[in-house]
Amino acid sequence: MIMTGSAIIQFPQKDLGLTLSEDKVVKKLVEAAKLVSQIYLKQENFKQNGANFYPRDATKSEIEIAARENPDILSPYTMVERGKNGKLVAIPYHIKFKKDLEKVAKLILEAAKITDNKDFAKRLKVQADALLDGNYTASDIYWLSLKPYKINFVIGPIERYDDKLFFTKCSYQSWVGIMNEKYTTDAVRFKNFVVSSRRKVLAASEKVDFLDKIQIRVDDTLIFSGLIARFMFTSANLPNDVNMMEKHGSESTIFIPCFEKKFQDERYPIYQTIFDRSVESPFSVEEIKSGALRNSYLHEISHPLLRYRDSERRLREFFPIFDEIAASTLGIKACGSLLLKDAISQKEFESILLMYIVLGFSWWISYLKEPSVVHYAQGFAIAINYFVENGSIRLNDGKMLPNFTKMYLSISELSDALERILAVGTYEDAKNFVDKYASLNIFTRFKQDLKQVA
Ligand SMILES: [Zn+2]
Repeated sequence: MIMTGSAIIQFPQKDLGLTLSEDKVVKKLVEAAKLVSQIYLKQENFKQNGANFYPRDATKSEIEIAARENPDILSPYTMVERGKNGKLVAIPYHIKFKKDLEKVAKLILEAAKITDNKDFAKRLKVQADALLDGNYTASDIYWLSLKPYKINFVIGPIERYDDKLFFTKCSYQSWVGIMNEKYTTDAVRFKNFVVSSRRKVLAASEKVDFLDKIQIRVDDTLIFSGLIARFMFTSANLPNDVNMMEKHGSESTIFIPCFEKKFQDERYPIYQTIFDRSVESPFSVEEIKSGALRNSYLHEISHPLLRYRDSERRLREFFPIFDEIAASTLGIKACGSLLLKDAISQKEFESILLMYIVLGFSWWISYLKEPSVVHYAQGFAIAINYFVENGSIRLNDGKMLPNFTKMYLSISELSDALERILAVGTYEDAKNFVDKYASLNIFTRFKQDLKQVA
């Protein structure tokens, strides 16, 4: 992994089996992605809560007041500046960064000319248009109507993490990836399992329709540029807009190079540390790795299945805790029924369960470095404490000893309890659950053992 310090990460290339023209297309897109980092650098500013999205001297309340008069001030796609008269003005990204964007669009259009795939060519044209005219919705709708294609190219102002003032402004980013056939086939197989087990409980409604529109892919990523290079996500789910997602579907992408790095540096060492020897010995590294990867896609697949319109409003600060752990748990619950159908082996299921526990520790370690991700750690604390309480996990000599049969039986109980809170739970229900189960002590007791990893 090469950190360039310029908000670009290029991953080592392996032979991806591209044709000559595909290779040319990819090279153009990587060039376009690289240029996006230049725009990103104009937006980011770690010293400022509002990054460079707002003038340095503007207070939060001044911005809010200005936005009442001019809603564009808080549009996700404008830079806010001070006009000559001192008033705040909103300048659309596609105007502010026009010069840079024209260079990017030119490369994308060149790639569109080279590709043999007509749909992809059109997609690239629509993406280039969106960069230049700011109509990202049209671009997203066209993209979601397409069948997943070998080459994956995402570009534009997408994630809001850099706007710590209002969590509104989107930062530019781009990535290029090539579909990993083997892992994508596995992910789609699991997706179909999860979705079909879901159909049984849902009445025919618009929501069921939406289940058909969830796409998942696993990519060998070539480049991250802009915000995503800073954050190094192992997966992403787009679009972010819930209404759009409901109408047109969503696509999750797992980024293999990021996943592998996390696995090697963190998840595998945690796995080797926290469990009793007797638990570890039957599994090969490959089996464990596939358990970890399956946790990643089960989580991504389950997220869109757990959207309840008013859960954020009801659960307030507890919402993210339940949102994340419910997604992880629902997928595992679905795996339980696969086991019954012989669709996966007992051993495969066990490796998924083990890596589910490991993920909890991995989030706890992330939380020690970055407190803002505490809700992931708390969510997994709920799950692990729940299993310890009902005897599905025993603590033996300072190590974890799961009883897979018990875990299998109680995971659907837990999944249902979590989903009930998301669907109809009150703030009090959420609070009681958190008070009872979310203590991070379950992780802290392994602190000494995990010193190396943390
Ligand atoms: Zn999530």
